Parts: sequence; C-alpha cells; structure tokens
Amino acid sequence: MEFEICQIARYPFIEDAKNWVKKEKIDIQEVLYEPIYERARARAVERVEQALKYGVIKEKALLDEIECMMEIFSYPLARLIVAAVESEYLVRRYALAEAKKAYESLKKEETAIIQKIAREFGIEAKDGMVHFSDYLKFAPTWDIKWKLVNRVMDKGYVELSNDEICRLIQEAIRNKIQNELFYMFAPPDINKIFGELISKLKNKLLAKEIKKVEGISEKDYPPCIKNLIAAIKSGMNVPHVGRFTLVTFLNAIGASTEDILKIFSSSPDFNEEKTRYQIEHITGKISGTVYAPPKCATIRTWGLCFPDELCKKANHPLLYYRLKRRKNELSKEKIL
Ligand code: SF4
Repeated sequence: MEFEICQIARYPFIEDAKNWVKKEKIDIQEVLYEPIYERARARAVERVEQALKYGVIKEKALLDEIECMMEIFSYPLARLIVAAVESEYLVRRYALAEAKKAYESLKKEETAIIQKIAREFGIEAKDGMVHFSDYLKFAPTWDIKWKLVNRVMDKGYVELSNDEICRLIQEAIRNKIQNELFYMFAPPDINKIFGELISKLKNKLLAKEIKKVEGISEKDYPPCIKNLIAAIKSGMNVPHVGRFTLVTFLNAIGASTEDILKIFSSSPDFNEEKTRYQIEHITGKISGTVYAPPKCATIRTWGLCFPDELCKKANHPLLYYRLKRRKNELSKEKIL
C-alpha cells in the first residue's frame, strides 16, 4: 500500500516520503531559495519553535496538495535547523515533539495504516498482538501500566489496543529522529536562510550546555585537528588547506573569532590583522559565505589525516568530534 501525498505529509519520516521526494526530483537548494517554497520554510521555523515552546508540534489543516507538499518539505528543513543549532536539548525536544505529533495523527488512522507504519519501525502488529521483544523495545515501562507483568500475553505476544500500538510507534519515531539528528550536520546554506533563528536558539540554549568552547579544549578534537593545532603552536609552516580545515572546523563547533585567533596567536609569525581577516572571510562574517569543514577523504588527499581507532567510524572530522563527545558524556552518565 503506497501513501497518498497528504498521508505522507502527516508522516514525513517514512520511506514513502523519501521516495516521493526522489520521484519529484526537487533538491534542497530549490526548497531553500525558491520563492514558491516560502511556506515550507515558514512551516519549518514553526515546527522548531513549537517543539521548543510546547513540546509538541500542532497538526496543520492540509487543505490541498500544495499544502501537503509544503508540509513534507518543511520536515527536512526543520531537521536541518535543529542540526545547525547543535544543542542536545533541542534535538531531544524536537524528536519528541515530532513523535507526539505523529501519535496524534496515527490514533485517527485505520488499522492497516497503523500496521504499515509499525512495520517500518520493525514492529509486527497483527490482530492487536505485538511480539514481547518489540514491545519491550518501545513501551514506556517506567509507567506501571506498561510493565510486562501487567499485560495480557499469549505465546510471547502482548495484546494491545490500536492506541497503545500507536504509543509504541511514537517511541520508535522519537528514537529514529533523535539518533539521526545527533549525527547530522547542517550545510552552511542553512545558516544563510535561517541564520537569525539559529543564532537566537543557540544563544538561548547553548549557554546551558557545555557546547561553547572555553579557552579551547582539545580533548574531543579529531587527530587531524589536534595535529594542526600542535603544528601551528610549534611554529611549523601549515599549508593554507590546513588553516582552512582548522578554521572551518572550529567555527562549526561554535568557537568565536577570538577563540580561533587565540590558537593562531601562538604561531611565531602571527599577524593579528591578517589572521582576523582570513578567519572572518572563511566564517562568512565578511564574505557572506560560511565554508563547511572538508570531509576526511579530502583531508586525506592533503596529507593532513592521522587516524586513530575512532576514525574508522567517522567520515568527517565533525562526526568524529560528535562521536567522541557523545562517548565521553555517556561514560560520565554511567559514573554518576
Ligand atoms: S580520519 Fe578524518 S577525523 Fe580522523 S584524522 Fe583523518 S581526517 Fe581527521
């Protein structure tokens, strides 16, 4: 069963949505810049703002195909805005808000549609029965009502109402969106279009998090970046591509011009005026173009890659940084 465009609009994270976008051959640049997608951009902002403010995104009356189309495109844009803010709090809140929105829509659907979406998340729901292993993956078992001992079971299958199956799906959606967003990086163009909102959210949220680079902590940086910093500090002649990699990386993780200048200031041939100009050019403050850090494959061709074990899981220095931070945070949580 394939979904119609307005059904896809209610569940823009499903496979049918990806296939539909592919079929329509509309790329993200068009949605970002073309005037006809203005409504999609406005709705993307609304999604993020409502998630933050209310903890849930309100359903929108979708009156025609154009509105459904705008609703579909607003979803990837909203995700990119969230990724650009780089706040774990926002990622969690947004993922939950999208999942709750989907839950409200799902509850009104026929059983066949609920089953189709459940299947996408690996939940086999047949005749109101769900295997206990799927149940345990997604049930909110902190609530006594959901504890397995309080459920009716038959041969390893748990009996559930349609509403309860939708609640399992809600949790599966939340997981999916959250996990994807933790490792997503927004292209610089997102900052061009939604820069004002992103800065506002960063200021609001990141003050509460350890996101801001204090002094410059090198603990979680990938080896290529640590190596570049060490080379600059020891007065070695770092090629332009190396300086470019370092500045774009530090800018992407939230370092200010002053933070970046501090690193270059330890170089023996430091020229503040010239370096400031170069940093502000690369970070878009005077050029209007925010350059993204290069991928590992590119850095490798420049001879600036010095991989360690964790690099096997990363294809981008920012992904390495995020994996390392996440790993450190998880081990901190375990200790606490
Ligand atoms: S693999 Fe990537 S992150 Fe690791 S050192 Fe090389 S360029 Fe840096």
